[in-house]
Amino acid sequence: VNNFSAGPAVLPEPVLAQVRDELLDWHGCGMSVMEMSHRGKEFMAIQAEAEADLRALMGIPANYKVLFLQGGASLQFSMLPLNLLPVGGKADYVLTGSWAKKAAAEAKRYGTVNIAASSAETNFNRIPVQSELKLDPAAAYVHVTGNNTIFGTEYHYTPDTGSVPLVSDASSHILSRPVDVSRYGLIYAGAQKNVGPAGLTLVIVRDDLIGHCRDGAPTMLDYAIHAENDSAYNTPPTFAIYVSGLVFKHLLAQGGLPAVERANVEKADLLYGLLDRSGFYNCPTEPASRSRMNVPFTLANAELDAPFLAEAKQAGLVQLKGHRSVGGMRASLYNAMPLAGVQALVDFMIDFERRHG
Ligand code: PLP
Repeated sequence: VNNFSAGPAVLPEPVLAQVRDELLDWHGCGMSVMEMSHRGKEFMAIQAEAEADLRALMGIPANYKVLFLQGGASLQFSMLPLNLLPVGGKADYVLTGSWAKKAAAEAKRYGTVNIAASSAETNFNRIPVQSELKLDPAAAYVHVTGNNTIFGTEYHYTPDTGSVPLVSDASSHILSRPVDVSRYGLIYAGAQKNVGPAGLTLVIVRDDLIGHCRDGAPTMLDYAIHAENDSAYNTPPTFAIYVSGLVFKHLLAQGGLPAVERANVEKADLLYGLLDRSGFYNCPTEPASRSRMNVPFTLANAELDAPFLAEAKQAGLVQLKGHRSVGGMRASLYNAMPLAGVQALVDFMIDFERRHG
């Protein structure tokens, strides 16, 4: 099937094949990666290689730590203010959808949250431009949601926040395009979309932002503890790190993030092209803010939603139902979705319109 799930989502087929081949006996050591000690030499080599490959892929500068954590992007909504927001401090948040709202709500528990900009008025169909951002130079950090999984919008520029650290929730577009990590203080992402299996959370954080966790916070929520212990203060999500490492190698072999971006642009253009040509389908997002990863769309006649989904499923096109909070459809086109999968969706949609339009 072609799986358009927003996450957990499709993984590259060669990676799944390698996981299958190595599942019971990794490189002749007689153990599955699942059975290895996280402090044994085999697993430590797997993790070190995964980190080195991620650094190469994203061009992560030496003064940034890569942390392999758990708890999902949702735990970062708390861990971030606990570490970067001093007691009595304030932070800027840009509201571009449900996840941004959740992140801001969590930070509010620890300090003052200033909403630097919001697209709530137009039902989050766009990304505020730089001139709209009302940034506070005294903020501890500025938080953006790099890609809005539910509303289908994405930053196509890096906000200029001056000397205030920029923080991005990159959960649903990390590794989909090149990124200048040095423009950010911290980038975090749940792995289960473009990286690997659920259970792993990536945090890429500049050295000077580590070591300021507030008193009384749980030890496990202190970035410094994880940085000092190479992400092995406790048992890390070993199998998810292993599979993610294979994904990093796979992306490097494809030519790295510039090549990945070219493929993603081609896929997104194919689907948006159809949505813009057709009066039968509508896309709610502003063209300049559109996500390459998550494409929401509606049918002009909502009575056709159920038949659309049923027929799509029969054609092997699954997980197209929109998020429960917005309705309609959503096609997620993460890195591992091949162009042929998007072409199959577009062909189906043209045929469906011909028969029902
Ligand atoms: N942030 C974004 C942009 C997301 O898309 C999601 C999940 O879909 C989350 C945060 C929450 O991630 P997690 O389930 O890893 O906590």
